[in-house]
Amino acid sequence: MNSKLNISKLCIGNSFKQLSLREMMYAYYLSQAAWAGAKITMKQRSPESIKIFNLLLSFFRLHRDGKIKVGNVNPQNWGNLVNYAAMFFGNLGNYNSFTGTKFVPEIPKNEFIKLLPTSLVQQFNEISEVMYSSSPEQLGDYISNGGMTTYHSANITPEDAELAQRFMVSQKLNAENTRLLKRDLEKDYIITVASIQSPPPQVFEFEDKRFIIIKGDYSVELKEVNEHLKKAIGYTANLNQKGMLTNFIQSFETGNIDFHKAGQRIWIKDHSPNVETIIGFIESYEDPAGSRAEFEFMVALVDKKMSDRFQQLVANATKLLPLLPWSADFEKEKFQSPDFTSINVLTFATPGIPSGINLPNYDDIRGNEGFKNVSLANIIQASNSGSINNRIQFIPQQFQEVFGKYRTIAFEMQTGLHELLGHGSGKLLGPKDIENLNNPITGKPITTCYKDGETWSGLFGSLSNAAEECRAECISLYFSGHDIVHSIFNVGTPQDARQIHWISWYWMVWAGLKSLEVYSPDKQKWNQAHSQARFAILQVLLEAGGDLVKITESGPDGLEISLDQNKIDTNGFPAIRVFLEKLGVYKATADVQALTELFNKYSSPTELMLKYREIIIKGKRPRTIFVQPNVQIYQNGVRLVEYDLTPEGIIDSFLDRYK
Ligand code: ZN
Repeated sequence: MNSKLNISKLCIGNSFKQLSLREMMYAYYLSQAAWAGAKITMKQRSPESIKIFNLLLSFFRLHRDGKIKVGNVNPQNWGNLVNYAAMFFGNLGNYNSFTGTKFVPEIPKNEFIKLLPTSLVQQFNEISEVMYSSSPEQLGDYISNGGMTTYHSANITPEDAELAQRFMVSQKLNAENTRLLKRDLEKDYIITVASIQSPPPQVFEFEDKRFIIIKGDYSVELKEVNEHLKKAIGYTANLNQKGMLTNFIQSFETGNIDFHKAGQRIWIKDHSPNVETIIGFIESYEDPAGSRAEFEFMVALVDKKMSDRFQQLVANATKLLPLLPWSADFEKEKFQSPDFTSINVLTFATPGIPSGINLPNYDDIRGNEGFKNVSLANIIQASNSGSINNRIQFIPQQFQEVFGKYRTIAFEMQTGLHELLGHGSGKLLGPKDIENLNNPITGKPITTCYKDGETWSGLFGSLSNAAEECRAECISLYFSGHDIVHSIFNVGTPQDARQIHWISWYWMVWAGLKSLEVYSPDKQKWNQAHSQARFAILQVLLEAGGDLVKITESGPDGLEISLDQNKIDTNGFPAIRVFLEKLGVYKATADVQALTELFNKYSSPTELMLKYREIIIKGKRPRTIFVQPNVQIYQNGVRLVEYDLTPEGIIDSFLDRYK
């Protein structure tokens, strides 16, 4: 496992130091609550996870205190044990957060036993068999199908889950914080509800079956979560935060999801807070029935410098948008900047950290009251780094330094342009808008538009996400060399500006090439909208000629990609301009046929690209595990404690977290 671990740091830079003491205290109590709640998450991953967690914690604590001697065990075995622990902590359980497959220690069982002090032998014996067994292999499937889930007892079938769903709908109950169990008698179903309170069970008859609702699931953990949340209330920044936490506390107290919804309603009104948080049973990816949700808890800090730059971009939209390759007829009268915040994660107690968040998931709130769109900047940065031993994959040696030096600032600039001017630009034309308007591409009158009730995603379906991401990415390239943008992002000397412009484009084709790893040739399908978008841009730029982009089968990774800085203005920009115009006009005019043809043409990998994909997959690194810092109370103040970028660093951070 040693070589397979890919560890990254959550870089929060100066964000933490910029907080007031009050905000630091708020972040502290929320982080405490987050790690208390992580025990629920572990219990949700597999029944054995929490026991393995306790064993590893005790074992490595004794080791840190010098009470376990490694002497007789060979270093490779020891390394394998350390890696297992880091993997386990990083995934909050013994299932990989990305693939959903189970992983086991690579240190042989008898070697592990040699290391155990007598005090831990019994604990080890109780779980060693299941810890070392590679089955059930797949998380998120019914146990009756050979999978692993803790949301259902082993005897639950998909039909049982559907019946339970009907019952819950009939009672207007939400499933997010529940589990479904069946008694052997076959007639009784038990629905457990996560809550601190445990009132007498309620019994219902439904479709000739008996449903018993039992509250009080995860009560110990939720009680601890609430104790910290109650203290956090004392340090909230405004009434919204206070109201939101109060509702979350009530929901964990009673198990009533309506309080959680009320909390999220207030949460969406808390715009760009300095300390942002997400709390509760949120994502239902792992429930085979798709409705029970994993407990997660995030604490993040707004990046003030970045937010400031984003605001300046919005303020300059009136100067920049008219430069886009379409006339004012295709633009809204007044620029409306999308609700977008960039934040840096401080604490995220979850098996796998996403790079962006769009919540709440409750459709009735999303549809009527809105949502928040948040980009997790330090997660994106870490996953875009693509470094192995400080070398960036697929970048030729002579460009390593310049690529490494400028990609962070280039990426920040690209994010702002993409989110604000990209997604914020353009207009969907209605019947009135197209009267007397010619299609700038064909020169002929426009015949298609959005009729009453028609929407972009409704009309374009699965194409809409990737095509819109592509439009936004093209706009980010389009403006990446502009003086106004360079001065907002404070790029430095004219030479720096030139390099940043280059690396913005270079990064895009590099990301486009790497995108192939999420293309599935069997299903001829892209699994990620941004990846499909960047791949299409790579194809456009390959077609732009002049050897602007070169991909060769060489170098330590088997592939190298380069982009000629001197050809951006002559070949790159004109090609993107033409492509962007089509993306923009076809979207504006609801031209489903033209956009589908265009986009399929550029995002279908050729034979050669599929060959490159094989090479990329071979060199694919495992998903990043993050070493998260700890927030600690320290001499009347609050401090941030950071750890080494090693498996040992991850273990240390957990030992400090759970005293
Ligand atoms: Zn986007």
